[in-house]
Amino acid sequence: MRSGIRVGSVLGIPLLIDPSWFLIITLFAFVNSMEWQNRFPEWSMLVTWGIGLVVALLLFASVLLHELGHSAVAISQGIKVNSITLFMFGGMAAIDSESKTPMRAFAVAIAGPAVSIILFGMLFGFNTFLVEGSPLSIVVGNLARINLVLGTFNLIPGLPLDGGQILKAIVWKITGSRYKGTHWAAQTGLALGWLAIAFGLFTTFNGGGGGLWIALLGWFCARNASNYDRVTSFQEALVGLKVGDAVAREFRVVDGRSTLREFVDQYLLREERPVFFAASDGRYQGLVRPEELQTIERSLWEQKRIGDIAIPLDQLPTVTESTPLVKVVRRLEDEGLPRMVVLTPAGAVSGVVDRADAVKAMAKSMKLPLSDADFARLKSEGGYPAGLNLAAIASTIPEG
Ligand SMILES: [Zn+2]
Repeated sequence: MRSGIRVGSVLGIPLLIDPSWFLIITLFAFVNSMEWQNRFPEWSMLVTWGIGLVVALLLFASVLLHELGHSAVAISQGIKVNSITLFMFGGMAAIDSESKTPMRAFAVAIAGPAVSIILFGMLFGFNTFLVEGSPLSIVVGNLARINLVLGTFNLIPGLPLDGGQILKAIVWKITGSRYKGTHWAAQTGLALGWLAIAFGLFTTFNGGGGGLWIALLGWFCARNASNYDRVTSFQEALVGLKVGDAVAREFRVVDGRSTLREFVDQYLLREERPVFFAASDGRYQGLVRPEELQTIERSLWEQKRIGDIAIPLDQLPTVTESTPLVKVVRRLEDEGLPRMVVLTPAGAVSGVVDRADAVKAMAKSMKLPLSDADFARLKSEGGYPAGLNLAAIASTIPEG
């Protein structure tokens, strides 16, 4: 939903309009203007079309206020709202991260329907002061109904609807697991989506109106629900892993007293993409970066010792085996590191962990295939594969 056209911003949140919105607003304006034509046949087309369009725009203003309800509560919790997109099925606030507690998630979810229902109450109340059957009263009545539908329809308890977010928060509160909450709400969303598809198609084949719309909406919900489920499985797997599950112990310890020349001849030319640590007298001196050799004049290779160019462990980004793997994934990105050194509680080197090692641990935990050739390619390229972009998954997991 980032493909929209930017039309401005509200409360500092960019407001985007998806191309599908233009289609639906035209359709809605058309259907609405037809009603006005029936009611007031003496009015010109221009007037009925004008009113149709105004009502359609007010419908989307209602959707926008609903989304601003979610956004305002999210912002009050210190969560960034990246954008609000209006599209054919309504609106969507792209909220940067999830709330930290189930109660807070509940508050964000309920805020949208609450705004819609309050608007319904206000419009309904206002309408009682208007002359019944007058054009203004019809518009206000229409708008009241639209807001009532927005408030209640969104409370259906399945993701991606607000009711799904509420169900998620409730299951999260009861079980103590955010992931269980999302799985439950996604599963009901998926079931409801399929039910809507079946109902919509059944209605269409029996000549009922609006059936295709319901089927399309069901398809949209089912697709989103299964996406929530998949993302949650990835989050759950990543959160469950520790550095110890991913640490690669294939490293070489070389004698820190050997010269650079000896190091090149004995190790560097023989090993494949290894990681070297220098040690002497049973103590680690640090990590040897073979790239460092390029910066040293060849004439000095016979004199300089490998221990002299090793980077001391206390100057390296290190972690322990009990560190959550998600923290390493974040630091690799944030600090632009190729790898991190893993230490034992006693401060000795236990191994290293890089992006490929993290992917391997994830693939194992999720029982996804990862061939040795793919793993070797990841090791040399240093990035993440498209299907297992751990940096993207980590960014969706709340910190702390
Ligand atoms: Zn909502």
